[in-house]
Amino acid sequence: MFQHTFPRNIVVLGSTGSIGTQTLDVARRHPDKVRVVGLAVNGSVQTLAEQAREFGVQRLAVGNAALAGDAAVAGLFDGAELGFGAQAVVDLIHHDDVDVVVNALVGAAGLRASYETLKAGKVLALANKESLVVGGDLIMPLAHELDDDAGFAHYLMPIDSEHGAIYQCLLGEDPKEVAKLWVTASGGPFRGKKRADLQGITPAQALAHPTWNMGAKISIDSSTLMNKGLEVIEAHHLFRMPYDRIEVVVQPQSAIHSMVEYTDGSVKAHLGTTDMRIPIQFALSYPERWDAPVEPMDFRKLGSLDFQAPDLETFRCLALAKEAGSVGRTLPCVMNAANEVAVAAFLAERGSYLGIAECVEAVMDAHVAGGGGGVAVVESIDQLLELDAWARAEAERNLR
Ligand code: MG
Repeated sequence: MFQHTFPRNIVVLGSTGSIGTQTLDVARRHPDKVRVVGLAVNGSVQTLAEQAREFGVQRLAVGNAALAGDAAVAGLFDGAELGFGAQAVVDLIHHDDVDVVVNALVGAAGLRASYETLKAGKVLALANKESLVVGGDLIMPLAHELDDDAGFAHYLMPIDSEHGAIYQCLLGEDPKEVAKLWVTASGGPFRGKKRADLQGITPAQALAHPTWNMGAKISIDSSTLMNKGLEVIEAHHLFRMPYDRIEVVVQPQSAIHSMVEYTDGSVKAHLGTTDMRIPIQFALSYPERWDAPVEPMDFRKLGSLDFQAPDLETFRCLALAKEAGSVGRTLPCVMNAANEVAVAAFLAERGSYLGIAECVEAVMDAHVAGGGGGVAVVESIDQLLELDAWARAEAERNLR
């Protein structure tokens, strides 16, 4: 049964990243509702030590196992339970007093954490996109098993402005009466540009997102619209919606975070200040609402709202992600891995901006043609990790 009691004990996986620090800010504002009982980082031990001290957290994990023998690191954490490596991160989930796991890990490590969280019967507040994009076929059955009394997942709370918005628009509605999901996109820093304009784009140009303040990988994904493609796949899994009923619309002001259209032609939209602390707080507070973590939107100052169709010719990553989602099975896993490699290469100035979509398409084509065993039904995390490794190697080869 879904527990509605507060305070809730939360574990934050990826506590020093953009979502992690904003989650802790929500916890800081609501100490009567949220207690932090575990923190995990990849390697930012200094910040982890500061966070542990501020919130009085005794259970800590550092994903980077190479830091295990470091005496200077150990000295930072006098008296705390400190583990190293991927298993130590997952172990934080399993303590009896943990109610909610905020999964803001980056990459494939997040998939196992999501799986273990739901398997353990805890609420998963999910910011890690790979969990659903790559492993939706494994994760969603676990969420639905826990949610036998609910129309859609209460055990799986999305931490993303779009999915949080759709979640709220669906509250109190009959899923059978939903006609369409409208996922909004800011259009990123290159909205209105054509392919020819995007030759020679540098990482600094692509990192300058107009409306949202985010980490580097997701900022690049926002500029290519791959982020929107990943979000369409997530929406498909979260809300059990076929791809032909999920539309993307560019909404440059990012004031509308997404919309749900009903069979009678009514449309519900979620609006608000563009600050991730609002969807993060909702994921932790539901079914309650707490005091706003940021200044609410003043519509008198907002001016106009614009809407455009996305340009799939220029921003091919969105088309590729939709195709991967529609084919389904292991193709989204391969698409996601190729994108991560191509984005990392671009950020390291080893690959070009337009090369990101080219690399993703080449690796997807190779998988459809039988590479990595060909497109197959998703059966296990190990199978996905193996395929992820194959796709990364294939992407590296493509970039050379
Ligand atoms: Mg988003």
